[in-house]
Amino acid sequence: MADYCVIVVGGGGAGMAAAIEAADAGASVALIEADEKLGGSTALSGGVYYAPDTSVQRTRGITDSVDAMYEYYMTLNQHRVDASLARTLCEHAGDGLEWLLNMGVSFPAEDLYCSGVESVPRGHPAAGRGAEIAQALDTGVSKRAIDVVLNTRLTELVIDPDEGAVKGIRIGEDTITANAVVLATGGFGANSYLLNKYYPEAASQADKAWYIGSEHCVGDGLMLGAQVDADIVGFNRGLLLTTPNFKKELEVFVPGWLVYVNREGRRFVNETAEYAVMSGVIQAQTGGTCFAVFDEEARRSARPNKQYEDAFAAGIISLNWVSEEIDAQLDTGKVIKAESLAALEKKCGIRPGSLDATFCGYNRDIEEGADSLFFKSHQDMKPVRNPPFYAVEIFPAIVCLTSTGLRINKRTQVLDPRGRTIRGLYAAGETTGDVLGDRYIGGGNSIANAIVFGRIAGQQAAQMLST
Ligand SMILES: Cc1cc2nc3c(=O)[nH]c(=O)nc-3n(C[C@H](O)[C@H](O)[C@H](O)COP(=O)(O)OP(=O)(O)OC[C@H]3O[C@@H](n4cnc5c(N)ncnc54)[C@H](O)[C@@H]3O)c2cc1C
Repeated sequence: MADYCVIVVGGGGAGMAAAIEAADAGASVALIEADEKLGGSTALSGGVYYAPDTSVQRTRGITDSVDAMYEYYMTLNQHRVDASLARTLCEHAGDGLEWLLNMGVSFPAEDLYCSGVESVPRGHPAAGRGAEIAQALDTGVSKRAIDVVLNTRLTELVIDPDEGAVKGIRIGEDTITANAVVLATGGFGANSYLLNKYYPEAASQADKAWYIGSEHCVGDGLMLGAQVDADIVGFNRGLLLTTPNFKKELEVFVPGWLVYVNREGRRFVNETAEYAVMSGVIQAQTGGTCFAVFDEEARRSARPNKQYEDAFAAGIISLNWVSEEIDAQLDTGKVIKAESLAALEKKCGIRPGSLDATFCGYNRDIEEGADSLFFKSHQDMKPVRNPPFYAVEIFPAIVCLTSTGLRINKRTQVLDPRGRTIRGLYAAGETTGDVLGDRYIGGGNSIANAIVFGRIAGQQAAQMLST
């Protein structure tokens, strides 16, 4: 008889959800966590959860459906994700949200918003951000007879040499057997070797790229999966956020008065488009970056917007797009200043003679009351007219999450390259691939993924019988 029915490796959102579900199904469970506490990147996150047809939406009178989310998911990703996994996510995201609500997480209806480019709001922010979700799950774990082992980074699975099945884990000299092992070790944002190998788009940003998740997310799930020849799918996928690279801090607010131009000197996007799509649009420009351009008047009046005023004044957050920071970055050369648009083109390597036409059109649109090219809100627009002019290169370089990972089926069983299940091995959350596609569908995509497939992994693993 095995030491445990189920061993879960990684105690973030997916791992804690798996451990709780497995325990509720009657399994004996151990949860192994590398960090000194549970939570992982889930605890650090914004806590937005993406789901259709929820009680929170209904409170606001919003009509939505699983089918609508599925169509949106598949269309945005041009059907280049595993359809059965995408469908499973859409079908169970609502249940997952109710499950978190029952655990005490609060998702205020008034905060519900369109976190991607969907037509009805599906982004459910937890009032206490990711920390609240992680805390509720942690409490759920502690209320159950789950053996939690902290400060322990797992590096080895126990494998039956004859059938290739996973039989447990090895920690140092100790072997702990289990009917099933669930890998929920998160992504590999903290591992530059794996970023180079599996997420070259992020690695190509070189020293501009940095990771904002847990330092323990080094891709161990992929390494553990490799011990049983697991397939790895979703090459070059993840979520990059944009940054002017002033400092290694998450950009909390990008003002609408910035005007993005590419190296041809043309605007190419509504500068206030959702972050879910912005990095991809910038990456598609020549050189994979763009320039945010503004004039002297905009520089002088650059202040935090209402939402961030108090936190900024209290020194709780720092902001990039305020006069004092822009001035400080003039000295570093990250803000480029020129007395004319032609001189700015030269300094930035933008096509000569292009910016004049771009800003003539932009300024005329402001006078006429509408952005005729990209339909940005008129109130966000400021003319680019008064010299000196400024440009800041914008990089899609902040690694928020990675989504190259282990190939699973909708029961979360890990598959080998021939599509065969690897007996005794399950995986969920950021350590898996092909659930999240090339396009992040909106804030909440990844926590929903962790909770939905974490729960399924726990339920399925608990059913695994000892052999
Ligand atoms: C700042 C930030 C904001 C974000 N905001 C959002 C958001 O609002 N909405 C959203 O959907 N997504 C968001 N994301 C992404 C999202 O938080 C993660 O993708 C998701 O929470 C991953 O959950 P997970 O359980 O798969 O991994 P994690 O929560 O990262 O958990 C993995 C755990 O495994 C542990 N571990 C790793 N290796 C080992 C090992 N070998 N042995 C034992 N333990 C190990 C780690 O220590 C960690 O605790 C954000 C991410 C960041 C960094």
